[in-house]
Amino acid sequence: MTFGGGNTREEEPQVPGPKVEPKVESVGDECVICTEKSQSHVIVPCFHLCLCENCVEVVIKSGTCPVCRGEMKEIKKIFKV
Ligand SMILES: [Zn+2]
Ligand SMILES: [Zn+2]
Repeated sequence: MTFGGGNTREEEPQVPGPKVEPKVESVGDECVICTEKSQSHVIVPCFHLCLCENCVEVVIKSGTCPVCRGEMKEIKKIFKV
């Protein structure tokens, strides 16, 4: 390898690549923290349903909603039919 030449910057042609579709956030029923179990708890007062029973403690400790970072005052269990 020889150094000292001109800095030949390779200009990459701006070829529009394949359109990358924004990943559709498949907000399924999974808990946003462990993404394993289904959501069963809602955060009050923002009412983000995003937790499973296992991760309730995590949010209680942090005191904030993992979705909107808002204040968590209460967590309620919801019952889906
Ligand atoms: Zn969880
Ligand atoms: Zn929230």
